[in-house]
Order: sequence, then structure tokens, then C-alpha cells
Amino acid sequence: MNLPTSSSFPAHVVVRFAGPDDKPTEPRLVAKVVKSDSEWQRLLTLEQYRVTRAKGTEPAFCGGLLDNKEPGIYRCVCCSLPLFSSDSKFESGTGWPGFFRPFAPENIAERTDRSLRMRRVEILCACVTPISAMSSQTGLSRPDCATASIPQR
Ligand SMILES: [Zn+2]
Repeated sequence: MNLPTSSSFPAHVVVRFAGPDDKPTEPRLVAKVVKSDSEWQRLLTLEQYRVTRAKGTEPAFCGGLLDNKEPGIYRCVCCSLPLFSSDSKFESGTGWPGFFRPFAPENIAERTDRSLRMRRVEILCACVTPISAMSSQTGLSRPDCATASIPQR
């Protein structure tokens, strides 16, 4: 398949959704979720807004998804894109859930941060939301915040 890359369509992104069997679909080109700051404040909880839109970090051992063992798909709280499957969740020991592979590589973006005199790679949803904010379709009745990490290769 020869799809345009995300960079040639900055307002769009190539992603994979979850099919009926919870497996990734073929890649699809979709418009990015774009909302004003006041719209995000209306749609998200205070904590979700702080973590996703204001560069906040959820404290360790506080997220509602840390000990969640229900099978399912973890999704971005801002755009609902599937980010991780419970199949790839592991006990990271950091106080935040860890996942050893993304739901689909297309759904994950990376941003290099060179502040604080060190090189850090921030893991983002394809919609550019830091992955420190996710919801879960694993039996939780409402979206919740959590910080996930992907081990660096
Ligand atoms: Zn997203």
C-alpha cells in the first residue's frame, strides 16, 4: 500500500484503528483532532487537561490504570486512538504502567526534548497528545489518566 506520509499532510495523520477483533485495521489517512483550548477544558477532566495540554505529569502510583489487569485496548483520552493493548502491558516498577509495544507503530509519535541539558524522547499519540494520558475500554466506566512508558530499544 502506498499511502502519503503524515508529514506531507500536516493536518492529517496515517493511523490504524481497532477492528472488530481488536486487531489493527489497515492504515487510514484521517484528519487530526483539532480543538481550541477552551474546548479541551470542557471535554477533559482537570487532571486530564493538565497532563495532556499543559505538560503536566501524573504522580507515580496514582493512576487508575496502574494495576488494571482487564483485557482491552488503552486509548488516547483526546482522540480515542488505540495506543496499547493489554497484551503488551507489564509491571514497569516505576509507578506508571508500561507497555512493551504500541497497538500500531503508526499511532505513536516521538518528540525529542533537549531541555534540562539532556536528550529525552517523549512518546506521543499520533494526535500529538503526550501518552501520559489515556483512557481504557477495559471495564472502567469513565476515562482515566495514566502515564505509560515504552522501553527504549
Ligand atoms: Zn490522541
